[in-house]
Amino acid sequence: MAELYRRLDVAAGKVLLVTGGSRGIGAATARLAARHGWTVAVNYSAQSLAADEVVRAIRAGGGTAISVRADVADEAQVLRMFEHVDAKLGRLTGLVNNAGVVDRAQPLAEHSLARWRRMFDINVIGTLLCAREAVRRMSTAQGGAGGSIVNLSSAAARLGAPNEYVDYAAAKAAIDALTIGLAKEVGGQGIRVNAVRPGLIDTDIHASGGRPDRVRELQAGVPIGRGGTADEVAEAIVWLLSEQASYTTMSLMDVSGAR
Ligand code: NAP
Repeated sequence: MAELYRRLDVAAGKVLLVTGGSRGIGAATARLAARHGWTVAVNYSAQSLAADEVVRAIRAGGGTAISVRADVADEAQVLRMFEHVDAKLGRLTGLVNNAGVVDRAQPLAEHSLARWRRMFDINVIGTLLCAREAVRRMSTAQGGAGGSIVNLSSAAARLGAPNEYVDYAAAKAAIDALTIGLAKEVGGQGIRVNAVRPGLIDTDIHASGGRPDRVRELQAGVPIGRGGTADEVAEAIVWLLSEQASYTTMSLMDVSGAR
C-alpha cells in the first residue's frame, strides 16, 4: 500500500527538492510539505544523520522521501543531485532553495576574500544552479509540467546586517533580485517564483556564526516580542509552493514578526 501511495504521489506531480533539508527551516519545510502530499528529496551537504532522520520521520508519517547529498555550490554535484531525483522520484515540480550559510559576526573591514567567496558560492551560486536545473525540468516550453520555486532570502536583505554580516545581506539581496527577474522570465512557462524573507528564527545557523544565543539576545527588538520557529517559516514556504498560491509569483514574503 505504501508503494501505491508513492506511485500516486509521483503521478500527481508533486515532487519537491528542498536544499539544506536536513536541519532548521529546510527540515521543517520537508516535513510539512510531505504532510501536504509532496514527495520530498531532502538535500544536505554534510550531516547525513540529520537528513536520514527527516526522511525517517516523513516515512513514519506515511509520506515518501529520499535524502541526497550535494554541495549546492558545486555544479557537478548539483547536476548529479537533480539526475538522482529524476531517476528516483520523477519530474520535479517544486524547489525550495533553502541551503544557506552565515559567517562570524564581523564588520566588513575584517572580512576576508575567502569568506566572501564561500558566502556567495553557497548562498547565491548554489541558488542559481538549482534554479536553472529546476527551470529546465519544469518549464512548459521545454516539455515540463510547470512548477513552483521558493527561494530563502532574509530580512537581512533590507536591514543590511551591519557589523554582523553585510556580505550575507548582500547575498540575500541578490536572491530578491533573482526572484523578481526569474518570476518575470518564466511566468509564461508555468513556473511561479517567490521568496520568503525570515527574520530572527531559532535554528542552528546562529551557532554556526559563533552566536548560539543570538535569537535570545535580539528578540526583544522584534516588534512582536520573540524570535520565530522553523515551523512558522515552513508554513509560508509550503503555501507558496501550493496551488492555493496560484496567482502569487514574484512576491518577497516577510516572515519576521515585523522585524
Ligand atoms: P541551518 O539550521 O544552519 O541549516 C542549514 C542547512 O543548509 C543544513 O541542512 C545544511 O546541511 C545545509 N547546507 C549548508 N551549506 C550547504 C551546501 N553548501 N550545500 C547543501 N546544503 C548546505 O540554517 P537555517 O537557519 O535553517 O536557514 C535556512 C535558510 O534560511 C538559509 O538560506 C538562511 O540564510 C535563511 N534564513 C535563516 C534565518 C534564521 O534566523 N535562521 C533568517 C533569515 C534567513 P548540513 O545539515 O548537511 O550541514
